[in-house]
Amino acid sequence: MQTERKLDEFKNEPFTDFSLVENQELMKAAIEEVTAELGREYPVIIDGEKIELEQKFESINPSDKSQVVGIFSDADSDAENLVTRAIDAATIAFETWRNVPAGERAEYLFKAAEIIRERKHYYSAWMVLEVGKTWAEADGDTAEAIDFLEFYGREMIRWAEEQPITPSPLPEKNNFEYIPLGVGAIIPPWNFPLAIMAGMTMSAVVTGNTTVLKPSPDAPTIAYKFMEVLEEVGLPKGIVNFVVGSGIKVGEEMVKSPKTRFISFTGSKAVGLHIYEEAAKTREGQKWMKRVVAEMGGKDAIVVADDADIDEAASGVVAAAFGFQGQKCSACSRLIVDEKVHDELIQKVVDLTRRLKLGKPNESDTSVAAVINQNSFDKATNYIKTGKDEGGEVVIGGAADDAEGYYIQPTIITGVNPHDTIEQEEIFAPVLAVIKAKDYDHALEIANDTDYGLTGAVYSQSEERLNQARLDFHVGNLYLNRKCTGALVGVHPFGGFNMSGTDSKAGGREYLLQFMQGKSIAEKV
Ligand code: NAD
Repeated sequence: MQTERKLDEFKNEPFTDFSLVENQELMKAAIEEVTAELGREYPVIIDGEKIELEQKFESINPSDKSQVVGIFSDADSDAENLVTRAIDAATIAFETWRNVPAGERAEYLFKAAEIIRERKHYYSAWMVLEVGKTWAEADGDTAEAIDFLEFYGREMIRWAEEQPITPSPLPEKNNFEYIPLGVGAIIPPWNFPLAIMAGMTMSAVVTGNTTVLKPSPDAPTIAYKFMEVLEEVGLPKGIVNFVVGSGIKVGEEMVKSPKTRFISFTGSKAVGLHIYEEAAKTREGQKWMKRVVAEMGGKDAIVVADDADIDEAASGVVAAAFGFQGQKCSACSRLIVDEKVHDELIQKVVDLTRRLKLGKPNESDTSVAAVINQNSFDKATNYIKTGKDEGGEVVIGGAADDAEGYYIQPTIITGVNPHDTIEQEEIFAPVLAVIKAKDYDHALEIANDTDYGLTGAVYSQSEERLNQARLDFHVGNLYLNRKCTGALVGVHPFGGFNMSGTDSKAGGREYLLQFMQGKSIAEKV
């Protein structure tokens, strides 16, 4: 492995322009290639060994339920034993990996980025079929995965440089350096199945830790494809152990093990809080307080003031509410609008929503596909019903059909009041609640009045109002006169306040510090 080379400055991976016929052809070919690979069996991987288990489960295409994407060895069948083996393998691998120079560790990430970049559409196509991403959404996920690898690789090299300390008045040589923590449990969600999964795993790895990765059972195939990339770049065995199973069984074992040093989690508020609590208990044989990095849900709002550019606001709202079926933690699920421009804005938002095409994501012109699974479908239909029961009016959408896939029409519910259920709880589907505010101050007050604090946006042409939002809109990622989704690695470090998580700021300059500890060394001279 090469350790020293001149690195270019980090730049975001460009998105693919699918209006170009040649790019459309490439994507179609990738979908065909992946379709031919559907239904294969995948093992768990512990210490580099591929282990087939008797019990299996299937990952299916949510937009076409008859299609089996991958068949997985189900670690739930022997969770305690398999997790123990995986953690033991990671513990042994840590003794070597922790001393591998930072630059050398980073090279594995750069190589992985190179491979994914070369076969970009192949990975995007897996996301089209496994989680229902449209072409553009899948392409964005793949680009973000490349960005995380390139960014964290560079960040590690930066943290490995000599760190500034105050000169000692004593005859001493002093230095301060960052060392890894140990074995980490990596527990990602399904909704950015390549970017977030790879980012969470490789940020831990590049900082010198070893890991057990449990991907979401809704997106295991794309995670396995990433494991193949790690094999191809020659990452030594035992550094990323791959155990597929449920959160309740495999995830719990990973969190509770006394040998787990830290937990990197992204997912729902309920699971995040549970993990936080479990991780705080010290168990027999445990020598440390576990560190938890937890990025959780949101109830993100776009505030539209009476002086906003209404066309801009309408297109921002529709993109943020319905992109990837509203299944982004950053998705706009509340539109809070000054009553003076309410009717004009809603008319425009409804018109734009009417133009969205609900369909299969493997077709190039689809804008909204199915939600991830039956549970998500049921949850969304129940929330739509609750919205109506609590006095809301469905002005567009509302219908759902789970015959072929889990399809929920993009839905807008007006007449929602602050503190209504659908104004407070994360729905994670294409369902937008519209709340009228008396004025701008009232709108900000409503926006802040949930347990969450992830993303938010304000549309206004007044500098004073935008400044007020800078001070008072309490979210980790605030957007002014633009939509609240689409954070870019390095550009918009990402993470939320309050019950949205520990504000880890993925893709930011402090992110890697969470997987390291500082060691101060003084030598008398
Ligand atoms: P989830 O909480 O259901 O699951 C997340 C992961 O936790 C999965 O791998 C799951 O198997 C595992 N898990 C479940 N129960 C567990 C347990 N008891 N112990 C250990 N692990 C357990 O979330 P999801 O449905 O996969 O993802 C959607 C959620 O993620 C939404 O709430 C969304 O807002 C959030 N999210 C947040 C961010 C962010 O950066 N803040 C990014 C993406 C998604």
